[in-house]
Amino acid sequence: MAIEKTLLLIKPDAAKRKLTGLIIDRLENSGFELVGAKLVRVTEELAREHYSALKDQPFFENLIKYIRGEFHGIKNNKILALVYKGENVISEMRKIVGKTNPEEADPDTIRGSFGRITTKGQFENVIHASGNKEDAEKEVKLWFKEEEIIE
Ligand code: UDP
Ligand code: MG
Repeated sequence: MAIEKTLLLIKPDAAKRKLTGLIIDRLENSGFELVGAKLVRVTEELAREHYSALKDQPFFENLIKYIRGEFHGIKNNKILALVYKGENVISEMRKIVGKTNPEEADPDTIRGSFGRITTKGQFENVIHASGNKEDAEKEVKLWFKEEEIIE
């Protein structure tokens, strides 16, 4: 089985609601190894590159604002980015994170526990986790320099 790395982002709704510690507790209890962690200033360019596959979706422009913290008053567009490593870590973390729609996410998952849909219909699903091997490789490279991954 392949040893993989995956990118997790604690989204601005979680940061604003002081859920960072609770979410990291869930991630840590997975048993996977943390190999990268830092605060990142999410530039317009980084946000658009990160979500480039979704650029034709109707929610894209709001998604860029959301990930940059513009709906939650996050100063300097900062976000906590983490990289975990291990066997099947990409799919295992996706299970722990839960479905994209927080109302459909199992209550045992992070999104099921803490996510919500606003009255305006915006998903606030508290965490990003790379969706598959291809995305994970692209995203870890996009958010971290090689020397920032400690393994
Ligand atoms: N998203 C949204 N509405 C949708 C689908 C997605 O607001 O109908 C947002 C949501 O924040 C989601 C992100 O876009 O986490 C990326 O979408 P994707 O389909 O990649 O879901 P994820 O991989 O995050 O579960
Ligand atoms: Mg995705």
